[in-house]
Amino acid sequence: VNTSPLLEKLIQHFNRFPGIGRKTAQRLAWYLISRVKTDAYDFADSIRETVDNFTTCQECLILAEQDPCPICSDTDRDDNLLCIVENTSDVYLMENMHEFHGKYFVLGHLLSPLEGYGVNDLHIKELETLISTKKPQEIVLALKPSAEGEATIHYLSELFQKKDVILTRLSTGIPFGGDLEYTSTLTLANAWKRRYRV
Ligand SMILES: [Zn+2]
Repeated sequence: VNTSPLLEKLIQHFNRFPGIGRKTAQRLAWYLISRVKTDAYDFADSIRETVDNFTTCQECLILAEQDPCPICSDTDRDDNLLCIVENTSDVYLMENMHEFHGKYFVLGHLLSPLEGYGVNDLHIKELETLISTKKPQEIVLALKPSAEGEATIHYLSELFQKKDVILTRLSTGIPFGGDLEYTSTLTLANAWKRRYRV
């Protein structure tokens, strides 16, 4: 049997999620259809409501319900420390660690020639603006320990070489090739404490 175009569209939506393959996408789509309709409607409403209410903080590019985001507008946080992460979900991981009380910046992507992400896909202009206004003393690169992470760290270290700032990176407590996401909070905290100069 041919898959219904409606079902196929739903499967493709699920298939676009990170870590969701075609088979899982099919299972999720069928699950949604087989449940009482109100559950699915609630799910759809929740997606729309959340997406509508989140915006990008113009300062750090975190996705949040306010602009400036709660972190940028928190006067208790230290402007001298800036932590660069790949995306907003990494901010939540760092926050769970309870070691960092500075500000963040979301880079958007890592350099990845294979996936087609180059320098222009990174939020460099916004980062330079933030650095020239906030003038942090230390910038911590909390990026995924991978070939893409290394390439990005290398690029940023060249970029900030002439700037009057200490550039550090997380120690390799995180397994190479792993995601920040799959690292336990304790490992991340250790990698944080043992961060070193680039
Ligand atoms: Zn912000």
